[in-house]
Amino acid sequence: MNRIDPLTERQTYLIGGFAELSCARCAALVRVRKSSPQQTSVQWSTRAVRQCPVLTGNEQPHTPVPTCPDLRTSIQHAVRTGRLEVT
Ligand SMILES: [Zn+2]
Repeated sequence: MNRIDPLTERQTYLIGGFAELSCARCAALVRVRKSSPQQTSVQWSTRAVRQCPVLTGNEQPHTPVPTCPDLRTSIQHAVRTGRLEVT
């Protein structure tokens, strides 16, 4: 019998307080940590940056911190559905 332990699953899912989350539109996999309802830290991997058309398409060439509006929506959705907790 294969029983899935929710605690074990949770430990592999969270890496140093960061949860892995993919953008609903471009599927770029990033690490997200929410330290307060207003504060969100996002770690973009080189691969994720290449995968996101918003970042590679230079739609916002002067933005110092890379952001993807679709990813922001995905983060908000994850918080609402309890996939991403405020830590
Ligand atoms: Zn994106």
